Amino acid sequence: MSNPYQYGGAPPPPPTPGSDPNRQQYPYSPGIPPQTPQGAPGYMQQPPPTPGAPQYGGYGDAGYQQQAQGGPYSPGPPPTPGYQNPQDAGFQGLTAQMGQMGINEGYGAPQQAPARHGKKKQRAFHTLDQAPEASGPPPLTPGFQSPAQQQFPNQFQSQFPGQPGTPGLANPNQFPVPANPQFQPANPPASIAEYNANMRGPTGTGRVDPDAIPSIPVSREAAAAQYKTQIYPTMELHHPPPALTDFVAFDQGNSSPKFCRLSLNTIPSSEELLKSTALPLSLVIQPLAPQKEQELPVPVLDFGDAGPPRCRRCRTYINPFMTFSQNGAKFVCNMCLFPNEVPASYYSPLDMSGKRVDRETRPELMRGTVEYIVPKEYWAKEPTPLRWLFAIDVSMEAINKGLIESMVKAIRRALYGDEKEPLGEGEEETAETPVKKIPPGCKVGILTYDKEVHFYNLNANLDQAQMLVMTDLEEPFVPLSEGLFVDPYESQSVIEGLLTSLPNFFALVKNPEPALFPTLQAAFSALEATGGKIICSLATLPTWGPGRLHFREDSKLFGTDKEKTFFASEHQEWRKLGTKMVEAGIGADFFLTPAAYIDVATVGHIAEVTGGETFFYPNFIYQRDSPKLEEELIHSVHRETGYQALMKVRCSNGLQVSSYHGNYLHRNAAADLEFGVIDQDKSVSISFSYDGKLDTKLDAHFQSALLYTTASGERRVRCHNIVAAVTDVAKEGLRFVDQDAVICTIAKEAAATMTEKSLKQIRGLLTEKCVDILAAYRKNFSGSNPPGQLVLPEALKEFGLYILCLIKLRAFRGGNVSSDMRVHAMRMLKSMSPAELSLFLYPRIIPIHNLEPEDCFADETGHLKVPGALRASFSRIEEGGAYLVDNGQVCILWIHGQVSPALLVDLFGEGIDNLQAIDPYLSELPVLETHLNCQVRNLLQYFKTQRGSKALRIQLARQGLDGAEYEFAGLLMEDRNNEAQSYVDWLVHVHKHIQLEITGQRKKEGADEGISAANLAGLRPPYW
Ligand SMILES: [Zn+2]
Repeated sequence: MSNPYQYGGAPPPPPTPGSDPNRQQYPYSPGIPPQTPQGAPGYMQQPPPTPGAPQYGGYGDAGYQQQAQGGPYSPGPPPTPGYQNPQDAGFQGLTAQMGQMGINEGYGAPQQAPARHGKKKQRAFHTLDQAPEASGPPPLTPGFQSPAQQQFPNQFQSQFPGQPGTPGLANPNQFPVPANPQFQPANPPASIAEYNANMRGPTGTGRVDPDAIPSIPVSREAAAAQYKTQIYPTMELHHPPPALTDFVAFDQGNSSPKFCRLSLNTIPSSEELLKSTALPLSLVIQPLAPQKEQELPVPVLDFGDAGPPRCRRCRTYINPFMTFSQNGAKFVCNMCLFPNEVPASYYSPLDMSGKRVDRETRPELMRGTVEYIVPKEYWAKEPTPLRWLFAIDVSMEAINKGLIESMVKAIRRALYGDEKEPLGEGEEETAETPVKKIPPGCKVGILTYDKEVHFYNLNANLDQAQMLVMTDLEEPFVPLSEGLFVDPYESQSVIEGLLTSLPNFFALVKNPEPALFPTLQAAFSALEATGGKIICSLATLPTWGPGRLHFREDSKLFGTDKEKTFFASEHQEWRKLGTKMVEAGIGADFFLTPAAYIDVATVGHIAEVTGGETFFYPNFIYQRDSPKLEEELIHSVHRETGYQALMKVRCSNGLQVSSYHGNYLHRNAAADLEFGVIDQDKSVSISFSYDGKLDTKLDAHFQSALLYTTASGERRVRCHNIVAAVTDVAKEGLRFVDQDAVICTIAKEAAATMTEKSLKQIRGLLTEKCVDILAAYRKNFSGSNPPGQLVLPEALKEFGLYILCLIKLRAFRGGNVSSDMRVHAMRMLKSMSPAELSLFLYPRIIPIHNLEPEDCFADETGHLKVPGALRASFSRIEEGGAYLVDNGQVCILWIHGQVSPALLVDLFGEGIDNLQAIDPYLSELPVLETHLNCQVRNLLQYFKTQRGSKALRIQLARQGLDGAEYEFAGLLMEDRNNEAQSYVDWLVHVHKHIQLEITGQRKKEGADEGISAANLAGLRPPYW
């Protein structure tokens, strides 16, 4: 990492068969399940030396150095307006402030569990009560066969290694040794004064070392390293790993953080105490989140016609925190404390310690997350396997852009898998059973539309599909009763035949204007009886027929108060249709590929309100973007999906739900959340308020219940149970803040206000919220640090930076951004999981020009050795370098103009030794036998395991050649860009306001406009 010219560096030891650790067959068990997409082996072994191919150490002299002699290097930043290299500018004005600012973090070791004095009795017979909470091996409960247990032999070593608390420098690990350090702390400074003196630099210039401010990559790496060999036992630890961490959770009665994250894992006992922290009390739930192979699957339980036992008073489902009494005859509800009769069919005697004797055989009493199959009274309509309706835009623009091609390819791959490799010589066709890609019983239908809607009879008995045209756009109907929805495997030849013929057929028609709204009405009619999921493509503004849309954006209004009107749908008819769809259990995903305005606000409203998703490809170029669209559509079909869903969240006496944020239908404050469809990638945030004081002797409980129909047609309730201690000492609560949950809640709330407030107001509110929280900590909890010092709570070290990243997102940033872009980003924020959001806010940047030979292969633990990520700043970019930048939505491969030709050849293949030679539309790497190519493909494979709904495809950004360079520059979140400050400037700004707050002189930003942070729902600051 330190040598930028390593791509000419030391040769690796010669490969000795048998001695190379990377040559072993490594089972990828604790880390990442092996994924071997066609043509791209999973995490590959290091390739054998290829005769003739240059090996490590063979490049350099002729490569980079020659280039280096070739001319003076001019390290210009990418040509982005407003972008400035922070090394060139921005620091000088800060020095005085920063020099005195100082940075310190609160608490040294935040993750240890709080002492729970006298509370264990309330812990509902948790078998782990006896375990020491902070350290030592978590004993696994007899009866649990945890696969994780076997795979993590060393998991129970020190839980919290190496976090010594040095006075004045709480966490020395936070300060990595920089590449060009201005201050090298050979020894940790003895005092804050010494540290501050060092911060001012040896020459007394007052320059600030940007390495000394909290770093997201460093924190992420620390968590990744910790959870490589350690599981997260959900009852013993109370501070979940950062959301982006690749970890294995062990459900001990409290739901995994993959499903539920509380903003505060120790809850203040009163509203006043919560206010003193300025933090929200919220729960972020991703109810169908994917689990790792090593994690226990969610148990599915069937209580027959009786249904799962529930509290008679508050309807809470039975869970591990309900207590049994009167020798098993009664159970006391953990939410409302009501003593219920135990139904006879559920009776079990208690043992000496008061536990049910059958407890360990009952997952609903042992696990935080369980699923119940529910009887008829929970049905809205007869549950059936999910029906998919593909609605394909076949108007002129879709033909011209190749969108039809993309859609038919994607649908074929989603249903039947990738096309088979052509048979090699001597190979014979085998009669394999076709791989079924969607659950048994699911049916699919296909319709196409331009200014008419075309249905297809796909009956398996037909030679080919029959088209039926529906021309009545005023009153759309479905012109066939049978053959519209078919088993895709029985009708495979008919469907494949239709998909093959569509592009050519409509190339002859070319109607320019699509009639989307009547199409969606027809789709609604087709699915009304059963519910189901619509997947709809659209290439251009739908300007035909009833519900047609028009160009209503006016860039003159950007930046004004009226801009927000573009973010909401104007059309009552569209809104009504969305509501009707949810009622019928229908949801829709859209794939939009516009060249210009397409009114995402209105079209995507249907996706938003039904719980679906909009995939957005502005300036769609078939060669570059089709692979991404195809994979995203396939993911959309294959991901865990339920439909006709209702969600209810219950909580302990003393708390109540105050607001929800996400993409769903919510009719009124008292109603449940309704989803036409819901899938594994979606999350919602629920905020709570107090209606009384909480008893610190009792824990606070939360239960979310998602009633839904699975894709395979079973009506179920998925329950997540979360418990947290209650404290009278708010400072204790601050130790267990979940930064990701706080950010996720704030982001979703801010997104939800976009249709009501101006963007400037929202940016102001976000800034205020950041200052509120950090100032509250500084005022109330940070102890005796010098007044001029910026002190950040350990658990919220990167909070300020994440808020800055949020302000820089397309949804909220200043300047001119099309409303389609903004609305799309807004809806994504509302449904994104904490993990996806974390990466979206702050990307991962990995240099690939100086990888160590063993990087990007499995290490001794079987995990991929991931090279260190860089801070997102141009100052970290090296000349001649190549970088992968991944924010979970796009993955940019940025290559410096003076990159080594040898690197290009190794990465892209023979003959590609200069930037111009690379295919500008390249979206994946070729499969080559070179070490570097293999490393980078392994790395990309790893990235894939950490994504939400978006496919990983490379977008090329060659210095000085590709437009994606702008995107790259915009992702350098620590720099001054996106109409907002650099990280250093931002911290100075925030610090200044914290000081004003402490001294009572703060004037809120935006106060002139009569707004305050109180307007951000549920996020009231502590000042009133
Ligand atoms: Zn109850």
